[in-house]
Amino acid sequence: MNTKNIPSIKPVKKPKVNVITLGCSKNIYDSEVLMGQLRGNQMEVVHEAEQVNKDDIIVINTCGFIDNAKQESIDTILQYSQLKEEGKVGKVIVTGCLSERYKPELESEITNVDAFFGTNDLNNILHSLGANYKHELIGERLLTTPSHFAYFKIAEGCNRPCSFCAIPLMRGKHVSRDMNELVNEAKVLAANGTRELILIAQDLTYYGLDIYGKRNLDELLRRLSDVPGIEWIRLQYAYPSGFPMEILDAMNERENICKYLDMPLQHITDRMLKSMRRGITKQKTVDIVNQIRDKVPGIAMRTTLITGYPGETEADFEEMLNWVEDTRFDRLGCFTYSHEEKTHAHSLVDDVPEEVKQERVDAIMELQQGISFEINQEKVGNTYKVLIDRKEGDFFIGRTEFDSPEVDNEVLIDAAMHYAAPGSFVQVKIDRAEDFDLYGQIVK
Ligand code: SF4
Repeated sequence: MNTKNIPSIKPVKKPKVNVITLGCSKNIYDSEVLMGQLRGNQMEVVHEAEQVNKDDIIVINTCGFIDNAKQESIDTILQYSQLKEEGKVGKVIVTGCLSERYKPELESEITNVDAFFGTNDLNNILHSLGANYKHELIGERLLTTPSHFAYFKIAEGCNRPCSFCAIPLMRGKHVSRDMNELVNEAKVLAANGTRELILIAQDLTYYGLDIYGKRNLDELLRRLSDVPGIEWIRLQYAYPSGFPMEILDAMNERENICKYLDMPLQHITDRMLKSMRRGITKQKTVDIVNQIRDKVPGIAMRTTLITGYPGETEADFEEMLNWVEDTRFDRLGCFTYSHEEKTHAHSLVDDVPEEVKQERVDAIMELQQGISFEINQEKVGNTYKVLIDRKEGDFFIGRTEFDSPEVDNEVLIDAAMHYAAPGSFVQVKIDRAEDFDLYGQIVK
């Protein structure tokens, strides 16, 4: 048979998918799961590639938390829909929290976006891209972080009633993930070189209450701690009220559970905590911080605060400032209150002027800068286990177990004197300390 005349059927090359992630580590996780599934469908997928081509499909994973984040998401959508208008990209798909929260408005205002999806729409997104959800890929992600650390989402949504927060509107009720599934995912990550798991959820401490009828984050921690290759397990987003102290037993027992706890406290005066519906008082907050520090000596505590919540007086603010001075958190972030529609607090008057909100943030962060400097001085002369994240300029840059990526302190090591491969652990003796950075020599 003469095959010369049979036209060769060139396989139709699926367009490249370029995923853009905005917002928090939970969004990073969701983008990585989507990218893992796309790769599992033999699709070419990249993350935030600057170079775009006319056939590319852009998937924007948006954030809808507070004003600034919403604006950034809208600007990003407009940027890519403009590129589509100019024929420089093929399709624009929007997903994530902003899309979950404002789909009808976005659909009517930005009409050349191909599709808007919610936060729990993985199957539909894959379907719209000509791909199928592959159950066997559970736990398989395309990491966007350096491969030696990975965000590890153990639950979705939140059952808490915090008055200022729109997250439950976008992420729904708390749903814990199956423990065996999580342990398998950790094994896959460890086999691929991940050494640090950063546990995330809206509220870590709620883990298990829905599917196991009890809080059992401590059991999950022990099982993850048993996974060979995992050297650090870090806890982010713990809620203060009803805090399960047994977590700290696991932390004391297991070398590879970092003595680090991120616990957003938001405010401290009884009046503000009540109006915020945080379910905790000033005294209970002070007690829980002291109990945690007593139970795990040397633990690094991070918190997050809000200034300018409706009704916050100068006296409220002074009380918070004094409490920050007394408590001396190791790490602290502070944000201005954002008046979010459909939240409980939206029914209150947003009476604190924006500039006053910002002045209060600046005052707290200035105070914290001094506290951080003093705490860091106490580290000079000590030797710490450091995970090297990258080389930047003249330095290898890493973190101690007391530092989370992107938000906390870093350790800088002179690259002219030392070599340390990113992803490796080294022992570093600290010889100089600044507000948020430590400098040191590799000793082993
Ligand atoms: S715990 Fe409160 S602040 Fe945190 S996600 Fe839930 S409702 Fe929002």
